[in-house]
Amino acid sequence: MRILTYEEAGRQRVGVLAEGAVVDVSDLYPSVLAVIQGGEEAKAALARAQAERAPALSVEEARLLAPIPVPPRNVHAVGWNYLRHFDELKGRRGRVDPDLPDYPNFFTKASTTVVGPQDDVPLFVHLTEKFDYEAELAVVIGRGGRDIPPERALEHVFGYMAANDLTARDLQHRSGLQFYKGKSLDGSCPTGPWLVTREEIPDPQRLTVYCQVNGEERQRATTEAMLFTVAELIAYLSQGMTLLPGDILLTGTPAGVGHGLTPPVYLQPGDLLVTGVAEIGELRNRVVAHDGRG
Ligand code: MG
Repeated sequence: MRILTYEEAGRQRVGVLAEGAVVDVSDLYPSVLAVIQGGEEAKAALARAQAERAPALSVEEARLLAPIPVPPRNVHAVGWNYLRHFDELKGRRGRVDPDLPDYPNFFTKASTTVVGPQDDVPLFVHLTEKFDYEAELAVVIGRGGRDIPPERALEHVFGYMAANDLTARDLQHRSGLQFYKGKSLDGSCPTGPWLVTREEIPDPQRLTVYCQVNGEERQRATTEAMLFTVAELIAYLSQGMTLLPGDILLTGTPAGVGHGLTPPVYLQPGDLLVTGVAEIGELRNRVVAHDGRG
């Protein structure tokens, strides 16, 4: 099932995809987060509505928002989870150039970074000259939990989305290994285009992640190349730390980021950024200059 958030007449609505059309289920659940918190019962109710109701509009007509516009807390993320991406940034991490980590390198992005699959992404031109893309598979936690063993970890996944972990490299490297500021500018985490429930994704290590800038492909890899699998990331992150329903986890970016090119190439105002996970869907975000005023 593909569950989405869309806007109509200035109000947020919840829908389910049915053969290219949107079935409105806002009367059942006011938000996708409420669906996630409702667990299996909520999914069953949405499946019934999907089968029985007439669609409200076509997906092309829908103004899509981030599936979870306001996550319950910061977006969890992991750095250096693809070997070729770790290698491409050798010598380009400012003063700090660590060894490949033995454990996942977690950080967070502020919850206010989240935007939708069709939204403009602000490029704060007064703050950064090195704004860069990172296409990633995003995992959304369903049933929360602590000390989740890896062999049970995928049972705690509600579903998957495409995401981009946009990063101001100059701000990121200014603070050494502390990524928070460079990864938390407003609008720097487009997600969507919908939330695909885990039944549709039997193996999250067999997905194709890609990124294009103005039609030029910059990143393409399969999640098979992850150093730490989705299950291992969930297991490790949940050690002594409770994961909550609706938590978002970005699983790392493959090689091909602009900062790793020779010479480096960064995003510019007007660029069209396309971020996709082939089996899930695509985000299309325009990069728009913002001078920090208004
Ligand atoms: Mg990343």
